[in-house]
Amino acid sequence: MTTRQTTLDTGRERPLDPATARGALPEARSTTAPSARIAPDETLACPACRTPLSGPGPAWSCSRCALAFPDDAGLPVLLPPGAAHIRDMQAHIHDDLSRLHNARKLPLYWQTGFRYVFNLLMAKHARMLARLHPRAGERHLDVGCQDGMILSQIVHRWGVRGTGVDVSEDSLRLALQRNDLGLRYYLADALSLPFREGSFDTVHSLGTMEHVPHPERFVAELARVARPGGRVLFDMINRHDGLTLHGVERWWAERRGRGGAARAVSMSIGHDPATFLDPGEVRAMCKAAGLRVRRISVYNAFVPLWVDTRLPRILARLRGRKVDFVGRPLVPGPGKEGDAGGNGADPRGSPGREPGAGGTGPGAGGLAARRAGALALKGILPVAELLDLPFTALGYGNSFYVLAERPER
Ligand SMILES: [Zn+2]
Repeated sequence: MTTRQTTLDTGRERPLDPATARGALPEARSTTAPSARIAPDETLACPACRTPLSGPGPAWSCSRCALAFPDDAGLPVLLPPGAAHIRDMQAHIHDDLSRLHNARKLPLYWQTGFRYVFNLLMAKHARMLARLHPRAGERHLDVGCQDGMILSQIVHRWGVRGTGVDVSEDSLRLALQRNDLGLRYYLADALSLPFREGSFDTVHSLGTMEHVPHPERFVAELARVARPGGRVLFDMINRHDGLTLHGVERWWAERRGRGGAARAVSMSIGHDPATFLDPGEVRAMCKAAGLRVRRISVYNAFVPLWVDTRLPRILARLRGRKVDFVGRPLVPGPGKEGDAGGNGADPRGSPGREPGAGGTGPGAGGLAARRAGALALKGILPVAELLDLPFTALGYGNSFYVLAERPER
């Protein structure tokens, strides 16, 4: 295990030529009519009763519940009965974020893979994902895959067979638009995953647990779909965050009587502080779900958070640009009522253009500059974490990663 990890951590990556990566995948993509695009999938099970689904045909169907799950113009919708509201409830936040994200980065990450690390959080994600030790040909599931950004990079780098689920239809459509790697995408609920038990060698879910109403069920579902001996990685927002940049900002806002406004910003992206957990609680959930916790890593006390959110804002202000609350340049999304604040936006994201529809990406120089930037961020990460150590060692951090394994029987 150690040898393998060293290899991965030295950053040796699979070739980034999409043709090469595609060749390594057992299943070729098909770009024929949308109805023919759905490949047979032996991992699928009814989200209600977990009976293996038969299909694809015109719809996936469950012989036990006599339910049919429609293929919505190339996107199978695998929600259990009564869960359709989830699609509306959760999705709008992610749809909006996805538009914002994509206008800026979609043309880039398909070309650069993990070398396009645009902040320390992504650098940390990449490092944690390497600890899953994905191997070529293994099945990998991304729960809350959004537009497939991370999943496509995992497939690109390690040659796994990727499946992604999300509740955001907009995000999944974007993922399908750029699906040169032949990944499988389904609209599904993290709390009722439409897969048979033990279907995946590795499972990850980042930025998702804080958005689900039943975290213990979320952990149980990740555990269920992992095979015995399979590995699971997820992250969660840490309740124990008093001594972090966010904690201090919150304290300062309360002091100035702006606590309500600060909470509203958090709620606007679906982050309800009442739902945040601490690592001990999540460890117990893992145990209850039959997972063996390998590592819990508290992250983001001050320095990485400052680099990711404050530094871009400072730099943007110096350049007369506007950025959002996490420091990303604001780009007007399509169909937004002018509230996205497109002033001084990235010129690639021209107003009204469908993001991802025709992004040409940067030239060779721009790509090289971004790769250099990503390399620098990878280098900064250990330094930033070292500076954070006095706090993270005490358990203070904005978030934490959980790496666990489903024991062999
Ligand atoms: Zn069923």
